Amino acid sequence: MAKVDWAEMLPYELAAAIATAPVCYLPLGTLEFHGWHLPLGFDALKAQAICRRCAQITGGVVMPPNFWGIGGGHKGYAGSAIADDDLLPSILRNALREVRRNGFKVAVVLTGHYPGEQVIAVKAASAEAGAPDFSVIALPEHEAFPTETRGDHAAKWETSLGLALFPEQVEMDRLTGDNPLYGIYGQDPRMEARAELGLETVEVIVNTIADRVRSELKRLGVA
Ligand SMILES: [Zn+2]
Repeated sequence: MAKVDWAEMLPYELAAAIATAPVCYLPLGTLEFHGWHLPLGFDALKAQAICRRCAQITGGVVMPPNFWGIGGGHKGYAGSAIADDDLLPSILRNALREVRRNGFKVAVVLTGHYPGEQVIAVKAASAEAGAPDFSVIALPEHEAFPTETRGDHAAKWETSLGLALFPEQVEMDRLTGDNPLYGIYGQDPRMEARAELGLETVEVIVNTIADRVRSELKRLGVA
């Protein structure tokens, strides 16, 4: 497997990756309570794992995930750490400027955390950073399914993605006790979540993003 994490690369490796495919993936999420069974950094870890799979297909590099997300219904939960709304646009503006300065031509901003505030801010900052020679693709992962709902919170779909991407970090047997579905929005993951469903979903997301990246590289005359 090719090395794809920016933070782990030596300068010559980053230069080679950019020369081969000037594509940078920016995974976004938050620290947020995700049920008793999923890690607190789930959204960013999920986005990072998907971005790594994309980069294995298209080439390019993956930035370290950004855990400062905004909005949503889990502020104040134990284990949540949600930023003020003004922080995220500033982080993205800085990150995309530096990505472009390093010679990337296409950036993919994938948010695994998707309340309205977050998605609106991500799309706006990405649109602002785009230029004729620098294309920014911004999406929450469930946008790969335009005609059905595959986004939820720690329920059927997110749990299936966790079981597919990093099963060793998912503890289904924690969903017991007085309030097993505390903080979970969506269909009961104990009944509905399946690794195979997660794998099938990951494949569609990765292929959708890879297709968009290839067509942007082509449009920019890079590939
Ligand atoms: Zn989530």
